[in-house]
Amino acid sequence: MATKTHVLVLILPVQGHINPLLQFSKLIASKGIKVTVVFTNPIETTSLAGNESELIKFECIPERIKEKEVPENSAQNQDAHEARIQSLKVKVLEHLPLILEGKASSGEPVKVVVYDSLVHYAYDVAKELGIQGAAFFTQSAIVSAIFYHLHEGTLRLPLQGESITGSLPLVPSIFKQQDMPSFVNDSTGAYASILRFILDQSLNFHKADCLLINTFDTLEPQIVSWMVSHYPNVKTIGPSIPSMYLDKRMEDDKDYGITLFKPETQACKQWLDKKSSGTVVYASFGSLASLGDEQMTELAWGLVNSQCDFLWVVRASEESKLPRNFASELAGKGLIVNWCPQLEVLAHDAVGCFLTHCGWNSTLEALSLGVPMVVMPQLSDQPTNAKLIVDVWQTGVRLLSGEDGIVKRGEVETGIKEAIVGDRSIELKNNAVKWKQLAKEAVREGGSSYANTEGIVASILGN
Ligand code: UDP
Repeated sequence: MATKTHVLVLILPVQGHINPLLQFSKLIASKGIKVTVVFTNPIETTSLAGNESELIKFECIPERIKEKEVPENSAQNQDAHEARIQSLKVKVLEHLPLILEGKASSGEPVKVVVYDSLVHYAYDVAKELGIQGAAFFTQSAIVSAIFYHLHEGTLRLPLQGESITGSLPLVPSIFKQQDMPSFVNDSTGAYASILRFILDQSLNFHKADCLLINTFDTLEPQIVSWMVSHYPNVKTIGPSIPSMYLDKRMEDDKDYGITLFKPETQACKQWLDKKSSGTVVYASFGSLASLGDEQMTELAWGLVNSQCDFLWVVRASEESKLPRNFASELAGKGLIVNWCPQLEVLAHDAVGCFLTHCGWNSTLEALSLGVPMVVMPQLSDQPTNAKLIVDVWQTGVRLLSGEDGIVKRGEVETGIKEAIVGDRSIELKNNAVKWKQLAKEAVREGGSSYANTEGIVASILGN
């Protein structure tokens, strides 16, 4: 049998990182490249087995540090965060060379390592073995540029109310301090380690053979063209979303593949099928964000008071924060699930808007499926994404918090009504549809992300 070109894709097992990297893996495998996907931590093997194919195989780096050595309740614990970050590095530096020297599971030499940019030291491992290294950035181009310049010291942190300044041109002056990624504004305690971890993804920026960004040119035109002119290795390849939602080329490509939570697919579908077109609010805060008890209560009653039907994803770990008997008293107006097939939900005709925490994947998915958003950013890059959604792409309504930091029920109610039935709803929907078209164009033959991906594949295959 002819030897196939072999790529190793290194993924942090967090849902917002698995989805775009796995989708990219599937895409290059569909072009005939053999891919070994390696997770930096163990993942349930049954979920992996179901997704293996002739061209895609999975491996996990085994856990080395025992949970009791690193306390779980580490949100405020800088030492624990530091320990986790160091443990990840130790594990990758120890195991990745073994996997690569063992030529990964297929037994064929690896030509390129595509690594999650947060695991930047994978580049050094690859180079040591004469293998190419490509970083995959799971955040927007503007956020990648902000992190890079903060890392290089060429961007001064804006003070309260100030615009972003420094040597980062083309960031719209409407971006103020509060629109910066959250850890940049609050780097106290554990956040100091997290900020360093995040900024360090720029460490091999100049050396990497390729810098893949999950965005598309027409979405962030100025920053992308500026980045590409300064760093020619930057390639936009997004939105990295199953092809069925973008160009309907592959009917069976409708899931990312691996979910860390069990989606309640049938319940969602059956419930949505009964609702009229464009009437449902879909609400979700992604896989990591955790709201306080009071915020959950305000959100719950804001959703009810909007009088719209709503489908709300409340992860099992968050359920106890709901008002007592809330889910059981909704009588068909609302459905609460622990996890849903988000792409299927966003693509459903009944969904009228997406109340979102603005994770980058959720943002790209809503844009690509033409769904207006009601934004309630929590942490990390979400404030920056929210600013883009509302003020640059003009396809969302922002919910403002009170002085106590809580978004009140009245604000939730008003924001939802504005997005779904108010005067602005038509403008928001028209803009959303425009972004959907542009996302499709980017990945269609001749589009920018299509061309970049084809170029990458050709160079991997050695054409
Ligand atoms: N997601 C999903 N079902 C849910 C909630 C989220 O499939 O009920 C997916 C969503 O489609 C997205 C990912 O989980 O691809 C979350 O990534 P994102 O960057 O939006 O947020 P994060 O979880 O990293 O905060």
